[in-house]
Amino acid sequence: MILSDVECECGTIYRCAESETLSGEPGRLACANCGRIVEQWDAAHRRVYRCVLTPDRSYPVVAPPPAP
Ligand SMILES: [Zn+2]
Repeated sequence: MILSDVECECGTIYRCAESETLSGEPGRLACANCGRIVEQWDAAHRRVYRCVLTPDRSYPVVAPPPAP
């Protein structure tokens, strides 16, 4: 099993689990948040994706306070 993270342009992050033994079919991952195609593959191995973070649940980027 190979684990990797892929991030959509909108900031949604997916965890990909790719099997090293099960055969799969070509396919693509459409972002559940914005609908963009995040990844396409014509690979031989089975893959599953799981959404791990959506932008509305991520922490906002906080600007550091000014130096004293
Ligand atoms: Zn997206």
